[in-house]
Amino acid sequence: MVLSGKRILIVIGGGIAAYKVLELIRRLQDEGAGVRAVMSRNAHHFVTPLSVSAITGETVPSDLFDPADEQALGHISLSRESDLIVVAPATANFLAKMAHGLANDLASAVLLASDTPVLAAPAMNPRMWSHPATQRNVAQLIADGVQFFGPEEGEMAEPGEAGLGRMAEPAEIVSAIAMHFASRPPGSEGPLAGLSALVTSGPTQEPIDPVRYIANRSSGRQGHAIAEALARAGADVTLVSGPVEIAPPPGVRTQPVATAHEMQAAVEAALPADIAIMAAAVADWRAEAGTQKIKKSEAGPPTLTLVENPDILAALAKHRQRPRLLVGFAAETEDLVANAKAKLARKGCDWIVANDVSPAAGVMGGTRNRVHLITAKGVEGWPDMAKSEVATRLVDRIAAHFK
Ligand code: C5P
Repeated sequence: MVLSGKRILIVIGGGIAAYKVLELIRRLQDEGAGVRAVMSRNAHHFVTPLSVSAITGETVPSDLFDPADEQALGHISLSRESDLIVVAPATANFLAKMAHGLANDLASAVLLASDTPVLAAPAMNPRMWSHPATQRNVAQLIADGVQFFGPEEGEMAEPGEAGLGRMAEPAEIVSAIAMHFASRPPGSEGPLAGLSALVTSGPTQEPIDPVRYIANRSSGRQGHAIAEALARAGADVTLVSGPVEIAPPPGVRTQPVATAHEMQAAVEAALPADIAIMAAAVADWRAEAGTQKIKKSEAGPPTLTLVENPDILAALAKHRQRPRLLVGFAAETEDLVANAKAKLARKGCDWIVANDVSPAAGVMGGTRNRVHLITAKGVEGWPDMAKSEVATRLVDRIAAHFK
């Protein structure tokens, strides 16, 4: 009963995944939480207020100005009587409303009228999720302190559609909620309690003109998994992430950035930190970007002038606030260990996690990884495992280092 005595308000959005909310409520109750719900009007298409009310044992309001409901406006106070608001499913439309502070129905008014922490479980068509408008709204909401859980990859309700957009499973959302309560205040329990950690993850995007950019291939999966594992171990974690399609991990302060310069500024702003893990695939070069879109012309393709980006890891190694443990990554396609050892010395970091990113290894964008850990003491080859297991094992090693 990890949620004993917690009061949770579920804001049910209008998406097909709303049917999963009944199971979510049941599971939260099994963990001892008191659950109330409000529904957006569109949610009625997918789940009935009667079924939600039967499970919660409470009325389920939807309307801000319902003449038949004498308490309609009073329902806004529901949010203030809760310890956490969970928006599930968080549709593209609902996230847009949240990001812009709209309050034109009860579900959105409830969110605007309180400072209760919010966890959103998005669910939408994968193209809607990756649309720049949605990503902009998500970045804004993260900056506002909203925590995200999901979406996940999988089949969509629409035939033939698959990708990143499924709502996380109820059991996983319950774990994220438990983690939210467990990780407050940050760094109070676990082997890394009291330590702060900084993680970079994902690619950087260097603009060529307003519509084009240079980037490295990187899903952010490994860096995000490390940030999550550090938080689970009790560290107070800041994740500086380039543009990725995966959700920010729970229990972590996520700072979204686009370019290497922005990443470096966010890293500097997060100092001091006891531990830094630089897992981002930073673009080595940036173009001298113009303010107008480069036009195709008869004269043939344009010539790009590239300039070197700052090396964030190497700069951190020389920084006056150098973290006590500084870990770099080395993505190599040949001579993995020799190249990684040279990189350890050149960058001035303490450990290097080296991974083989030749296409045959299938690491890029995948969920598994095969790495070597290189420290002053030597080289360890780890077996092929899930990126989440690589993260846990690395964090175990970090905990042993700080013991
Ligand atoms: O030099 P290379 O890109 O192979 O080094 C990889 C390591 O250096 C990674 O830890 C990466 O996050 C970091 N790096 C950086 N800034 C750069 C380039 C790489 O922090 N400009």
